[in-house]
Amino acid sequence: MPASTLRSMAIPGELDDGAAHVMFIPSAGMAHLLPFFRFITALSSHSVHCSVMTVLPTVSAAEADHFAALFAAFPRIQRVDFNLLPLDASAFPGADPFFLRWEALRRSAHLFDQLIAGATPRVSAVVTDVALASHVIPVAKQLQLPCHVLFIASATMLSLLAYFPIHLDKKQDDDAGAAGIGDVDIPGVRRIQQSSLPQALHDLNHLFTKQFIDNGRALSQADGILVNTFDALEPVALAALRDGKVVPGFPPVYAIGLLKSSPSSSCTDGAGSEKQAAAASSSPSPIFAWLGEQPAKSVVYVAFGSRTAVSHEQLHEMAAGLEASGCRFLWVLKTTVVDREDTAEVRDVLGDQFLGRVKDRGLVTKGWVEQEAVLRHAAVGLFLSHSGWNSVTEAAACGVPLLAWPRFGDQRLNAIALESGGAGVWMERWSWDGEDGVVSGREIGEKVKAAMADAAVRARAARASQEAAKAVAEGGTSYRSMQEFIGKLKAW
Ligand code: UDP
Repeated sequence: MPASTLRSMAIPGELDDGAAHVMFIPSAGMAHLLPFFRFITALSSHSVHCSVMTVLPTVSAAEADHFAALFAAFPRIQRVDFNLLPLDASAFPGADPFFLRWEALRRSAHLFDQLIAGATPRVSAVVTDVALASHVIPVAKQLQLPCHVLFIASATMLSLLAYFPIHLDKKQDDDAGAAGIGDVDIPGVRRIQQSSLPQALHDLNHLFTKQFIDNGRALSQADGILVNTFDALEPVALAALRDGKVVPGFPPVYAIGLLKSSPSSSCTDGAGSEKQAAAASSSPSPIFAWLGEQPAKSVVYVAFGSRTAVSHEQLHEMAAGLEASGCRFLWVLKTTVVDREDTAEVRDVLGDQFLGRVKDRGLVTKGWVEQEAVLRHAAVGLFLSHSGWNSVTEAAACGVPLLAWPRFGDQRLNAIALESGGAGVWMERWSWDGEDGVVSGREIGEKVKAAMADAAVRARAARASQEAAKAVAEGGTSYRSMQEFIGKLKAW
């Protein structure tokens, strides 16, 4: 069986063969795919051919739905199927399914050259995901093609990724034998407390950590890094990266955010589409019908992204907190990392008694919701979030303040960035995965209530949203970064 297939050799549409042709090589996970899809659709509207390396089956149902929706909505975007080499998962017991997929992709990356070289019209540039950077950049270089990385998290996190290998090298020289990773003092950015580092980084043998270090070192070989942020949100980190304070000679950093949603993001998983259901019945879906009945800015939206599973004990405290807050709430419940495995019913998790007590002011749902549309809804006044970067950027664009409760990975760094950028407040003392202690319902209730009543927090979030709009408007910082990148693409 061939390692890969070009699904269609000629790109339908009116672009001529002389136009730039970018091969996108995304990785896995909705937080990685959605910004890719948003960027691809933005770029394809600038007379650039776009091809997308597509690995099926995906890890989650949501990814499969969104790939299908992208190609259905944009027939001019070329789909390039890729068959992964098998990976023996038993060599990584207990590993996160998304990290495993990244590893499988990394180990198959040497096969990408056939696909890139075989595409028509001739590929003129490659854009890849950071999880694959150390394996894809050399492939592109060998084909003498420029390679950019689309970084899907904050510029603050980018600075950690770039500096972490240097931190380890220095640590080995300075204090060999000292236990632990220690705080990471990123030059020109800030000191990151050991406790805020992604959990996996405390173990240098962890699969994620090995990938992180390799990718961090490889970034300097990229031709540029595109980041879904904007200058006014993360001025310090962006300046330090661009001035070479973090890593001397670092490639150009293009802050091109906040990326706008693409029509393909309006889709669903097997659990049922909000929009699809609404379109089919020409009446609002239950969630939007419910939101439509709530007063302006009265609802706390509670969601922890596409893959964060919170312990049952903590979920019960969250339920108690939302009840105690006295606020209206819309809660998207997820109990497993991969959506296909999430079979528990809301009532099994939270109990009929709780649901009965809050039925007049709370809605709990499972499955995929149209988060951006929820955040844009006039009824939503606060977002209790895990501070995944996409959730942060979506809330910041809408001016909905975040009450950030990081759980995992880069989320504490994102929380640092969002708080200093005015997009919300970080519950710094609230525990995350791997730390002892459950945050009590009483404390959650008090903080939710206080944040909902905090006019200053709301005003800062509204300002951040205005800055976000200015950045992408003609002449804004992100608009100019995008133009600069497109100009370079067309010159290659
Ligand atoms: N998302 C959504 N509906 C859901 C769950 C997630 O639209 O039910 C989207 C969300 O809007 C965001 C992305 O999936 O764009 C999740 O990315 P994020 O970086 O916030 O968190 P992660 O899923 O990586 O934890």
